[in-house]
Amino acid sequence: MVGLRHPHVRGLGMTAQRNRKRLVDRLYEEGIRDDRVLKAIGTVQRHRFVDEALANMAYRDTALPIGHGQTISQPLIVARMTEALLEPGPFDTVLEVGTGSGYQAAVLAEIVDQVLTVERIRPLYQRAGRLLRELGYHNVRLRQSDGSWGWPQLGPFERIVVTAGGEQIPDALREQLAPDGVLVMPVGPSGRQELIRLTRHGQDWERESLGLVSFVPLVSDKI
Ligand code: SAM
Repeated sequence: MVGLRHPHVRGLGMTAQRNRKRLVDRLYEEGIRDDRVLKAIGTVQRHRFVDEALANMAYRDTALPIGHGQTISQPLIVARMTEALLEPGPFDTVLEVGTGSGYQAAVLAEIVDQVLTVERIRPLYQRAGRLLRELGYHNVRLRQSDGSWGWPQLGPFERIVVTAGGEQIPDALREQLAPDGVLVMPVGPSGRQELIRLTRHGQDWERESLGLVSFVPLVSDKI
C-alpha cells in the first residue's frame, strides 16, 4: 500500500540500490578487494549524505560539495582509506578526524564496533549527528572540536583516520595511537597530498606511502 501511494519513494530506493551495486563493481575494478569494505559501500545510502539536489550524482565515484567549502570524499578514496585501516588486522574502535557529511563514519560503523568522529564546523557536526542517528548508526559518537588534538579523554586508539590533509601528522594524534596502532592521513599541501599510513611499533614508527590524493586542508580551530 505504501509502495502504491508513494511509488517515487519506492523507485528511488531501488534505483539507489542498483547504483550502489554499480559503484561497488567499479571499486572492485579499481582494485578494492576487501569484502567488508565492498559490503559497507554497497549498504550505506550515500545519497542521504549529500544535498537532495545532488542525490542523482551520489553513486558516481566523485567527491561532492557538502557546503561550508567542504566535500564528501570520493568513494574510491573512502574505500582505500578503510582498507588501509583494516589490512594490518581487525580492530574495534576508530577515531576519525573530519566528520564532514558523516559518510566515512557510516562506512566504518558498518564494519567496526565503535566510531568516534570529530568535526570542527558546527553545522556539519550537527547535520551529520542528526543523519547518523536517523539512519540508526548508534555506534558513532560525534564531537565538535579541532581534531588535530584528537580526543584525549577516550584514547589511546587502535586506529585513527584523518580525512583532511595537513603538512604534518599532528603530534597529539601520534601520541593517542595505541601500541601497534595505525594512522592513515593525507600529508602535504592542500589539494596535493600523499596518503600516509603510519604504524606504531613500540618506540618505532613505520611510514608507508599509499599514493597521491587531493583533500581539503586540516584547519586548526573550530567554528
Ligand atoms: N569524512 C568526510 C565525509 O565522509 O563526508 C569527508 C571529510 S571532508 C573531505 C574534511 C572534513 O574535515 C571537513 O568537514 C572539515 O571541516 C573537517 N576538518 C578540517 N580540519 C579539521 C580539524 N582540525 N578538526 C576536525 N575537522 C576538521
